[in-house]
Amino acid sequence: LKFLRGLPKVELHAHLNGSLNTDSIRELAEKVYGAQTADFSTLCEQFVKFEKGAKLDECFEKFGFVHKLTATKQGLEYATELVIRDFAKDHVIYVELRTTPKANEHMSRRAYLQTVLDAIKSARDLYEIRVKLLPSINRGEPIEVAEEIVALAIEFASTEPDIIVGIDFSGNPNQGKFKDFMPALSEAKKHDLKLALHCAEVDNPLEIREMIKFGMSRCGHGTYLTESGYEHLKEENIPIECCLTSNIKSGTVANIGVHHLKQLMEADAPKVLCTDDSGVFDTTLTDEFFLATETFGLTRSQCIALTMEAVEHAFATREEKLLMKMQIYSYTRRQP
Ligand code: IMP
Repeated sequence: LKFLRGLPKVELHAHLNGSLNTDSIRELAEKVYGAQTADFSTLCEQFVKFEKGAKLDECFEKFGFVHKLTATKQGLEYATELVIRDFAKDHVIYVELRTTPKANEHMSRRAYLQTVLDAIKSARDLYEIRVKLLPSINRGEPIEVAEEIVALAIEFASTEPDIIVGIDFSGNPNQGKFKDFMPALSEAKKHDLKLALHCAEVDNPLEIREMIKFGMSRCGHGTYLTESGYEHLKEENIPIECCLTSNIKSGTVANIGVHHLKQLMEADAPKVLCTDDSGVFDTTLTDEFFLATETFGLTRSQCIALTMEAVEHAFATREEKLLMKMQIYSYTRRQP
């Protein structure tokens, strides 16, 4: 565990509002919104509590709690810093955060994105971590919202190309139709934004085929892919972002022993270990490596290979990747 904790890690699938752990939520509530109440502590406890056999839809309801805390500019700004701080604490040297720009009485979607972007820029100077941002399209929202988000992403990427590097397609997979979002996603692709698509999180064969045909740079979850789907992604060198704890707690994978990470390792297919929502699922990237190691008996070299693979699939520049590889190499050389 000590080796895994110190290992420089790369996080490629982290939803901003899902990545606030309960300590940080308490800190955020205290700093931005004043003293906490007993009710608030109970809410925090409920937030990370999962009943066995929880349903995916119930997991999505959990986000509402954090969304209330990040609904103001100040709350969002501080939450972004806390999330970056917590990843850095876990020796994550590179993180791609994804978040859905939200409009409310305090902020427009543009202001939301600008706030997160500014917070990332400030945090970069405070912590030893590279941070990129993927604005998310929430498939449960109308197409016009997706179009607005893509337009904003394209505009912001033109001035901040080293931070805004792609688009995430996420949200409750039981809502919305992928097909309807294809024009917005094509527009993003046309402007060189990489696509990270949540795909095959639930069993929807038609949509899975549409997504694979459409193409993506990385596949989120990929739980319900068929054999030919896995083969296709391998041929195209598209990695599956494996979020072990998330998949178990949300019930999309029956138990850790049957997680598709095993199959991907055996097939030597591209994969990356990720947290998804380290706050909601009460985990860290170190915990995910540890769980994989305990369950599938990974060796140290396999863990190093996994973190190197994540570097390879990051939406980072060649120079950034080289620096990260050197950092990992130098850590592993120093180990007994
Ligand atoms: P936010 O976009 O920063 O607010 O992060 C939370 C949001 O990410 C949720 O409301 C969902 O839309 C999305 N999300 C988080 N985890 C998952 C997942 O496992 N599958 C699909 N969407 C997710």
